[in-house]
Order: sequence, then structure tokens, then C-alpha cells
Amino acid sequence: MDDAEFCQIWRNFAKLIEENREYLNSLDAAIGDADHGTNMARGMAKAIESCDGANGGLRETSKAIAMAMLSTVGGASGALWGSGLLKLSASLPETRSCSEREFVESVDAFVTSVHDRGKANLGDKTMLDVFLPARDRLNAGVAAGESLLMLANELVGETAAWAANTKDLIALKGRAAYLGERSRGHVDPGAFSSSLWFKSLNQALEGKRA
Ligand SMILES: [Mg+2]
Repeated sequence: MDDAEFCQIWRNFAKLIEENREYLNSLDAAIGDADHGTNMARGMAKAIESCDGANGGLRETSKAIAMAMLSTVGGASGALWGSGLLKLSASLPETRSCSEREFVESVDAFVTSVHDRGKANLGDKTMLDVFLPARDRLNAGVAAGESLLMLANELVGETAAWAANTKDLIALKGRAAYLGERSRGHVDPGAFSSSLWFKSLNQALEGKRA
């Protein structure tokens, strides 16, 4: 993966988040404070400025994206995405391109960070209900020699389904956990926005814009 492709993931993500901003706010309104779409859209708008201004390698570019998320996205999402992306950045080489294995290792570092910091597990109705199984699929696929494009293609549908499945769960982490049983019946906004990231990845690998 080269830096143009890498930046395209984030441009696609910014566009998809913007297109889904009101939907994400409405999901958050049901079980949180109605700002997930607004927060993520603000963060991603800032993040893609970093890509546009980037002249360094993958590590520098992704670090700038992380800092943009940390400084502009509020709440748990900003801290989790921002600190996770710092770990992703540290895992990437300083060069302008990396192997598919190195890219998957950086996603693994992101997910490990979100897992360690957020302390949520599978089924807790959070972004990890998308990222944990997706990470496992990516790791297993790359180890088996499958191409990142094929894996990303498959994960578009899988992650959308995993996000939709959070509707039936009771939130055990984050603000929504205070609602207990009343959190059931609503898709988790963080899981939904996370599924959009995999759509963004697939579009970038296919060479399409969102
Ligand atoms: Mg919120």
C-alpha cells in the first residue's frame, strides 16, 4: 500500500462519515448524547487536511491524522480513535509504502489499543463489535496469503452485519451502559461508523472514491 492509497482510505472515510452524519447523530441520540456524527465529521475533516498537507511517509501521515482526531473529536470516540491511531502510526514504516502484512499489523495495533484503553469486549455494544472480529479475519487472511483487497471486499458486508447486530445487544461500556436494558433496540453509533471505515478501505483498494 502506498501513501496515495493510504490517504484515500481517510478521504473516503471522511466522505462517508459526512454523508452519514445525521444518521450517526440519530443513533447516538437514542443511546447517548447525539453528537457522534458531528464529532467524527469534524475530526475527519481535520484529518484529511493532514493527508493533503502530508509530504512524509506513512508513519508521519498517520500520526498527523491521529493528532487531528485527538484534538477535534470529543468524548470516548476521540480518545479511542486518536490513541489507537497513534499506535497504528508507530507500527507503520517511515517509508511511503508498506506491505499488506505491515498494514494489517498496524490495524492490529489500533485494535489492541482501543481494546486496552476502552476495556470493552465482544458483545458489549461498542466499536469493538466490528473491529475485533475484523482484526481476527484480517490477521488470519494475511497469514493464509489472502489478498487485502479480497479481505476488505468480504469485510464490507461482514462489518455492516456486525454493526447491525449491535441493535440486539445491551450496552455494557460507555455512556449507553447507563441505559441498561433500554439500550437494546438501537444500533451502536461507534460500531456503525467503524463499519464505514472498512467500506472506505475497500473503496481505496478498488481505486474508487466514496
Ligand atoms: Mg456521543
